[in-house]
Amino acid sequence: MVRGTLRKKPAINFCYHEIMTDCIFCKIVAGEIPSFKIYEDEAYLAFLDISQVVDGHTLLIPKEHIRWVWDVLPFGQFMEVAKKIVTRMRKVTGSEYVYTQAIGHLVEHAHLQLLPDTVGVHNEVLEKWKEALQTRHKSPEEMQKIADKFKLD
Ligand SMILES: [Zn+2]
Repeated sequence: MVRGTLRKKPAINFCYHEIMTDCIFCKIVAGEIPSFKIYEDEAYLAFLDISQVVDGHTLLIPKEHIRWVWDVLPFGQFMEVAKKIVTRMRKVTGSEYVYTQAIGHLVEHAHLQLLPDTVGVHNEVLEKWKEALQTRHKSPEEMQKIADKFKLD
């Protein structure tokens, strides 16, 4: 990736703090690419995903170029913004369910995917879970190893 600064701002994050000139999300933040904004403040921007898996499929990003959602600081503030958006989605759909994803693939700029409940997404996720429940049972020993591996110190 080619890095370049499009704006001056004190770094508040320990990793990337510059606008990436070849990052599509940084271009959206800079207004070089149009977007359908759902929310915006000094630090964060939420806009409709161009693919719209379901109506309202939204991406929440930090305005600073940060690779991973888990490195966004202050993280609690980021989640508070997500909650505002989710609250609105719940009101609009009348459903408590909002599919949330933070995989971080395709675009290497931290983003949280928020998909309000509709027919397809909810059912698809539930089907995969049901499948996992039937096919991915592990022994108690395997489960303990996994728990030990991920357990917080
Ligand atoms: Zn970026």
